[in-house]
Amino acid sequence: MFNKILIANRGEIALRILRACRTMGVGAVVAYSEADRDSLAAQLADEAICIGPADARRSYLSAPAIISAAIVTGCDAIHPGYGFLSEDPGFAEVVRAHGLTFIGPPAEVLERFASKEATRRLLGDHGLPTIPGSGMLRDEAHALEEAERIGYPVLLKPSAGGGGKGMRLVRNPRELEAGFKVSGSEAKAGFGDGSLYLEKYLEDNRHVEVQVAIDRFGNAIHMGERDCSVQRRHQKLIEETPSPALTDAARWELADRAVKAVAEAGYENLGTLEFLVDAKGDAYFIEINCRVQVEHPITEMVTGIDMLALQIRIAAGEPLGMTQADVQARGHAIEFRILAEDPAKDFRPQAGQVGAFIAPGGPGVRMDSHLYPGYEVPNDYDSLLGKLSIWAPTRSEAIARADAALRELLVDGVTTNIELHRAILANQVFIDGKVTTNLLDRVGSAPFVAASNR
Ligand code: ADP
Repeated sequence: MFNKILIANRGEIALRILRACRTMGVGAVVAYSEADRDSLAAQLADEAICIGPADARRSYLSAPAIISAAIVTGCDAIHPGYGFLSEDPGFAEVVRAHGLTFIGPPAEVLERFASKEATRRLLGDHGLPTIPGSGMLRDEAHALEEAERIGYPVLLKPSAGGGGKGMRLVRNPRELEAGFKVSGSEAKAGFGDGSLYLEKYLEDNRHVEVQVAIDRFGNAIHMGERDCSVQRRHQKLIEETPSPALTDAARWELADRAVKAVAEAGYENLGTLEFLVDAKGDAYFIEINCRVQVEHPITEMVTGIDMLALQIRIAAGEPLGMTQADVQARGHAIEFRILAEDPAKDFRPQAGQVGAFIAPGGPGVRMDSHLYPGYEVPNDYDSLLGKLSIWAPTRSEAIARADAALRELLVDGVTTNIELHRAILANQVFIDGKVTTNLLDRVGSAPFVAASNR
């Protein structure tokens, strides 16, 4: 096991990693930028080190800053959390070259799964159905040709993408001509790689993802699936497990196929395979995330597995220590992303100082948040303030507990989406378990916000 881990991330995930280290008896150092000097993780840690200015390119995205911080503090491993450098094969390689361990898949595994377009083909070859689409697009003419073959509407997708950035729905050749360059430059600016591919656009889809864990000896398990269909702008807002979109038999079958395919393709460490499920209930693989996911707590709540501890153990070269038969899922869990953004103003990000902060409690209630009264929410990073996760024996009980918890949750001083969550919970489409990923983008948040103000 490691002696000391450098936590090269911020916000709630830095705290979550710190908690895992503590329970495992492993030392931890929190690496923070100047904007996060007063962060809860930095305050709670036994050791913390500044790695640069607020600008992430010079702190959380700077390999030299992170690696030197790990070396001077005597760490033997680096946990990148999610986002930032967590899926960067070059970074994983540099970490290894300095005699440190990257907590995530080995560099060559990250490299193999780095391109979404190539991963589609790879896992397609290993038996996972994919949505009809193109290979990497050479130029606009090639894009037009491929879109014609696939049939409109199509989605332009950055191959190095994430967070829904640069993705563009195009319904005809004119829109494709107009969007091709814009998507390419958005992808280039956002991910340093402008390459694009096309996928047939599935109109009413649900997002279902399978959680896997694979050790370096090839032992592989899945931990069931999560439904992340409540989204805005292709970004997740609410996640739940089990998915109301699939029968028990269908979701375990999907999870079995997913873990088998990705293990055969040589994956290692924690990973999430994302699928879109169409109206007929057929699931198509869209991408893999080679890291811990924001929404991992709901899987922890139903399985009782500490996924961060598991991830750290796998990276340390230990065997999984469990088989598929040991993974049992109990009850229903729902996670709400508490975001500093204004649903009434087009989800615009908000900053400011937190006044009062009250985290809810009670049976089956878990709050992962780095907030405290007086905390200054910086506007340099993403808008995630925390995650409220709820467990109950059944979905309807989980919804009731969730509403009670959301009523207790108080974040003063910063505009948040808490009321939007309550309105979605009260919406019949959500109650019926029938939300598709386009719901909020189609109807807008206005009806939800209005309902919640009544
Ligand atoms: P990112 O890596 O940017 O998160 P994904 O490929 O994971 O992008 O897709 C994010 C979301 O975008 C999905 O959950 C879904 O809402 C939507 N999406 C992606 N591909 C398609 C598709 N082919 N048709 C319809 N919606 C899609």
